[in-house]
Amino acid sequence: MATNKLLHMNGGFGETSYANNSLLQRKVILKAKPILKENITRVYRHIQPDCLNVVDLGCSSGPNTLMTASEIMGIIHAVSLSLELKAPAFQIFLNDLPGNDFNTIFQSLPEFYSKLRQDKGDNFGPGFIVGVPGSFYERLFPDSSIHFFHSSFSVHWLSQVPKGLTSNGGTALNKGDIYITDTSPPAVRRAYCEQFREDFKLFLKFRSVELVRGGGMVLTFRGRLEDENPSTTFNLVGKVLHDMVLEGKVEEAKLDNFDIPYYGPTEKEVREIIEDEGSFSVERVEFSKLGWDADMNESNEGSNNIEDGVAMKAKFVAQYIRAVTEPLLKTQFGEAITMDDLFLRFTNKLVHLMQLNDLVYNNLVVSLTKRQTNA
Ligand code: SAH
Repeated sequence: MATNKLLHMNGGFGETSYANNSLLQRKVILKAKPILKENITRVYRHIQPDCLNVVDLGCSSGPNTLMTASEIMGIIHAVSLSLELKAPAFQIFLNDLPGNDFNTIFQSLPEFYSKLRQDKGDNFGPGFIVGVPGSFYERLFPDSSIHFFHSSFSVHWLSQVPKGLTSNGGTALNKGDIYITDTSPPAVRRAYCEQFREDFKLFLKFRSVELVRGGGMVLTFRGRLEDENPSTTFNLVGKVLHDMVLEGKVEEAKLDNFDIPYYGPTEKEVREIIEDEGSFSVERVEFSKLGWDADMNESNEGSNNIEDGVAMKAKFVAQYIRAVTEPLLKTQFGEAITMDDLFLRFTNKLVHLMQLNDLVYNNLVVSLTKRQTNA
């Protein structure tokens, strides 16, 4: 089924909202900042537009949404000061799927604009923020209208559950799991990889048409090392659902037919797709590592007990995984399971896993420039 009808993060500001549980993603954005700065500075110096048109693809709704916008404006402001140029105006397009909580973003704009004026002064910008609901696997902007695309932690979401996960006879190939595991049959791995290849190629094609000559793009998304076990937090959700099937709390067929529309590619896979698609030159591809617990401070306030520290980290991970997966899980399993129950079980499994392993995400940061020949 198409992701654009199913996927959105938990909205609002509540305890289980994405807005309240996106610290991990915030750290991912901050880690990629030097590469973002390098690419957008090059674009700005090269083109020097009066108005810089920038897009954040998969912006979601929460503190990270406008943080990216203000990081980008801050970088260009500093560059224009150092080059003794008048800072450009900014048009910042915030894109996400139509189910995203755009209202919350829009409601925070007056405060954002007034803080911007306070911090940067009246001669800055101005900046204009625009919402663009739609899938980044479709066209979003007119030809040659954008100077720079940014996307953090979004492009690993596929356009749909991989097509090849059902055999010709209609049997589910990934029975009992919701993502690739170390024991998955080759057909499951192939189906995920093929869906990513198809989606990412289309994504690159559309963005290249929308970019001006010399435009740039920086993407950060979940990847994996060549020899890395594909195991992710999603596999742990799968294990919990499997336990619930054994207890008769979840229908087996529902689990067998549920797969996460997500893929973490290797660097080699990503480079091959970029080369094959042909519109972009690669400036850089780097891995950026981050613990599942977002490398949170080891010290645990109020307790010196290591076990309490692990429990706190596991709860933190469970909260952000819930903020991201709850709408998908609810659609598939409905009222049959309570999310509190599922994520309590998830936390307990995670405590055990965290005591045994160092759990790290290997994120890919990909910095690209539109090839001149393709303008
Ligand atoms: N960039 C934000 C959000 C990351 S969460 C941050 O770093 O905090 C991933 C976001 O990507 C979600 O809001 C999801 O709705 C969005 N997304 C996933 N697939 C998408 C698609 N095809 N088109 C647009 N947005 C998409």
